[in-house]
Amino acid sequence: MTRADHLPAPTQILQEVFGYSAFRGAQADIVGHVVAGGDALVLMPTGGGKSLCYQIPAIARHRSQQGVTVVVSPLIALMHDQVGALEEAGVHAAFLNSSLSGEQAAHVEREMMSGRLVMLYAAPERITNPRFLAQLDSLQERGLLSLFAIDEAHCVSQWGHDFRSEYLALSLLHERYPEVPRIALTATADDLTRADIIERLRLEEARVFISSFDRPNIRYTIVEKDSKPRDQLLRFIQDEHHEDAGVVYCQSRKKVDETADWLVSAGIKALPYHAGLDAAVRQRHQDRFLREDSIVMVATIAFGMGIDKPDVRFVAHLDLPKNIESYYQETGRAGRDGAAADAWMTYGLADVVNQRRMIDESPAGEEFKKGQRGKLDALLALAEATDCRRVRLLAYFGELSTACGNCDNCLVPPATWDGTDSARKLLSCIYRFHQNGGQRFGAGHLIDVLRGKVTDKVTQYGHQSLSTWGIGADLPETQWRAVLRQLIALGHVFTEGEYMTLALADSARAVLKGEVQLLLRVPTAAPKRGRLTRGTKPGAGSGKSSAPIELDDDALARFELLKAWRAEVAKEHGLPAYVIFQNVTLAEMARQNPQSLDELVGISGVGAKKLEAYGEEILRVLG
Ligand code: ADP
Ligand code: ZN
Repeated sequence: MTRADHLPAPTQILQEVFGYSAFRGAQADIVGHVVAGGDALVLMPTGGGKSLCYQIPAIARHRSQQGVTVVVSPLIALMHDQVGALEEAGVHAAFLNSSLSGEQAAHVEREMMSGRLVMLYAAPERITNPRFLAQLDSLQERGLLSLFAIDEAHCVSQWGHDFRSEYLALSLLHERYPEVPRIALTATADDLTRADIIERLRLEEARVFISSFDRPNIRYTIVEKDSKPRDQLLRFIQDEHHEDAGVVYCQSRKKVDETADWLVSAGIKALPYHAGLDAAVRQRHQDRFLREDSIVMVATIAFGMGIDKPDVRFVAHLDLPKNIESYYQETGRAGRDGAAADAWMTYGLADVVNQRRMIDESPAGEEFKKGQRGKLDALLALAEATDCRRVRLLAYFGELSTACGNCDNCLVPPATWDGTDSARKLLSCIYRFHQNGGQRFGAGHLIDVLRGKVTDKVTQYGHQSLSTWGIGADLPETQWRAVLRQLIALGHVFTEGEYMTLALADSARAVLKGEVQLLLRVPTAAPKRGRLTRGTKPGAGSGKSSAPIELDDDALARFELLKAWRAEVAKEHGLPAYVIFQNVTLAEMARQNPQSLDELVGISGVGAKKLEAYGEEILRVLG
C-alpha cells in the first residue's frame, strides 16, 4: 500500500479533532494542497482561521506516517498555550525554547526524533542551531520530516511592521530540505510585503491563497475627541462592554500607565502593557489577560501579535495609529471567534498634528517620509469619512465592496454641513496673522480670534484690530477644531515647530478662492449608538458577563455554570479558559442544553478527545 492510499480525509480530522463541521472559506483548498505536499503562502485576516490550515495537514500527514511538522513562530511567550490547546484536542505537540529545563528539552527531543510528535513549535533562531539542524537531517533521512509551517511570515520582510532578522535564515529550509513542503502564513496584506515574503522564503513555486480581508463581525466606529477622551472611552466600555475583555491602544508608555490607573480607579479591571515594563510583569499581565475573563489591556503596539484569545470583544484606540495597516492589524484582534465585536477609536486635532510631527521629525529620508505622509492621509480620510468605513478599509487593501450596515456611518449616517465658508474664514485668519508682523500662532489662539474672545494674547498682539476678529463667533469651538482638523488632514494647513504653529500650504489658495468645497461631519459630542446586534449583550449593565449569542435567562444561568466549571479546569491545567472551550461553544451548550453525549458531540467545538475528557462532567454541570 502506498502512503496516499490511506490519507485520512481532512474534513474527518476537522470534525473529529476540532469538533467543527465544515471548513471556512479557502481553508479546504489550502489544506488539500498542503496535505498533498504542495507549498503555500496564505494571506488571511486575523481570525480567518489560519492555524487549521497547517494543523490539519500536520495531523493528516502524521497519520500517514510522514512524521513531524515543524512550526516556526516568533512568539515564545505563547507557545505553551498553543501547544496546550493542541494537547487538549488530543494532538501530540510540543515546543522547544529557552524556557525549558535541560530535562524537559531532552524529553521533547526524544518525542520528536521518534516521530511520535505531530507538531513541534520552535522560534526561528532555533532553525540555525547546528544541533537542531542535525536532528532535522536525521528525521529527513528517515522520512519523518513532514512539513514546515512558518507563522507570522511577514516578519521576514523589512517592509512589514514586525521585521525579525532571525526570519531571514528561514530560506535555509528550502535549500536544505527542498522536498519538504512549506506553508507560510500571514495576516499582512500589501503587495510589497507579499513579494518580499515570496522572495526571501524562496516560495516562488508556492501557491498563493489570498482571502478576503473583511471581518464582518467587527463594527467600526470613529468618534471625535471631546475635551475628556478618557471619559468617552469609559462610557463606551461601561455602556457597551461591561465585563468584556478588550484592548485599549495608546501611543506612549506614560499614557498607557496613566490610562490603566485611571480605568482601575473607575472600576474597570485594567492592566498596563508596554516595552518599558519588566519582562516578568509583562508576562504576568499577558497571562492574566489570556486566562481571566474580563481584563482590559491598556497597551502600546508592543502588545498583540500572536495573541489568539478568541473572545476579545473590543479594541479601542485613544490615539491615532500610524496608518491603515496598523489600524487594521490592531482592530483585527477583536472578535476572532466570529461573534460581534467593536473597533472603536476617538481622535482629534492633536492626533493629526502629532502624527504629522512624528513623520516630519523622524530621521528617515524624504522619499520614505513622503510615503508615510501618504499613508497617514489615507487614515485621516477614513477618520473624517461620512460614508461606509468598511468600504474604505477594504478598498485600501484592493477589495471592492458595498456599504456594510455594520459601521457607525452605515448605522447612523452622520449629518454633514458645508464648511467651505468657515474654512475660508479660518485660512484668511492665518493669512492675516502672517501679514501682521509675520508671527505664527497655534490652534487655540486662532480659534479665540475667530470667535472674538478677548485674552491676554489677543490684547498683546492687538488682534482685535484684525479684519478676521470675531468673524466666526457663530460657531462653537468644537466645530472650529473640526474645520481646522480637516484642513490639516487635507494638507491645506500645516503645523510647525515646538509650539505647533499654523501655516498655509500652497493648496490653501484654492480653498480661499472658494474653488474647493468642504463637506464636514457635524461633530457629535456623545453619539447615540445602537447596541451590538449580532451578539446581544444580555448581561450588559447588570453585573453579569455577556454571552456571545442570544440566550434566555435559563440558558444564561447555565452559561454561567459552565464558565465556572471551565475556569476550574483551566486553572488545573494551567491554560487559558478558551483553550478548554471557547465562549461560543459554552454558549451553544447552554442554549441547546444537551442531555446525552450524543447530543453534546454535535456542538461546534466539541471534538472526540474533549468529549471523552469532559463530556460526563458537562452533562453533570448542566444537570
Ligand atoms: P488566525 O490565526 O487566522 O487569526 P485562528 O486560527 O486563531 O485565526 O482561528 C480563529 C478562530 O476561528 C478560532 O477560534 C478557531 O477555532 C475558529 N475556526 C477556525 N476555523 C474554523 C472552522 N472551520 N469552523 C469553526 N471555527 C473555526
Ligand atoms: Zn459601513
